[in-house]
Amino acid sequence: MTQTVGSRILVVEDERHIAFGIKFNLEAEGFHVQIAEDGQLGLQMIENPENRFELIILDLMLPGMSGYEVCRKLRASGNAVPILMLSARSLAEDRTQGFNAGTNQYLTKPFDLEELISRVRNLLTLGCTRTKTAASSEGKLRRYEFGQAVIDFESYEAIAKSKTVRLTALQLKLLEYFIEREGRVVTRQELLENVWELPGYMNTRAPDQFLRQLRKTFEPDPSHPKHFLTIRDVGYRFVSDPKASDSRSESDDKSHQDGEA
Ligand code: CA
Repeated sequence: MTQTVGSRILVVEDERHIAFGIKFNLEAEGFHVQIAEDGQLGLQMIENPENRFELIILDLMLPGMSGYEVCRKLRASGNAVPILMLSARSLAEDRTQGFNAGTNQYLTKPFDLEELISRVRNLLTLGCTRTKTAASSEGKLRRYEFGQAVIDFESYEAIAKSKTVRLTALQLKLLEYFIEREGRVVTRQELLENVWELPGYMNTRAPDQFLRQLRKTFEPDPSHPKHFLTIRDVGYRFVSDPKASDSRSESDDKSHQDGEA
């Protein structure tokens, strides 16, 4: 079968019949499954490096610490393990809140087991690709290379333009956010909410200032950025390999960005 069989999965769910139902069915498919019955315990189990979970199935409504909270805490600490969130709610804003907290997928209860299994496989396959390119087996980003630069998330350092540069925790968090969404447009609002943890409607130039710093550090020519692009009136886009990123010509790209230096 696929390379995802044998993967280690944690189910964080307080409703035992659901938790054990998921465990039973996933184990029948060849996965190794453990259960945590509340958010706090789930977080501890995920953060224990010995467990090395490759996927978390996380219920939203948990006693003590909610699924959102668990997810936010994991992402804030730089843990990028794939998360499939379960919820009895189906409101669009819940879903959005889940994604903003860093959930990869969202499944509404009651769900079809076949669908759960197919989503689990899908997330694990994506996780495998990620692991090879950017992250360790725990899913936490440790080292990332793009262009002529290397970022070391553990030592808070980068080598860029032949120099070693110290990075702050916030710069690393911002870099990680971009790297995980490579090629995608990221809005200013999204950055404020997920990186700065401020309400997205706040009118602050913080993201722009940080982008300027990143360009100064990483772009060979900061006034003509190739990696940290501004998408006018929307936000930004990180491109690790400008040559391979898309078929659009350089001049076309330039019309969509203002190269703040
Ligand atoms: Ca629950």
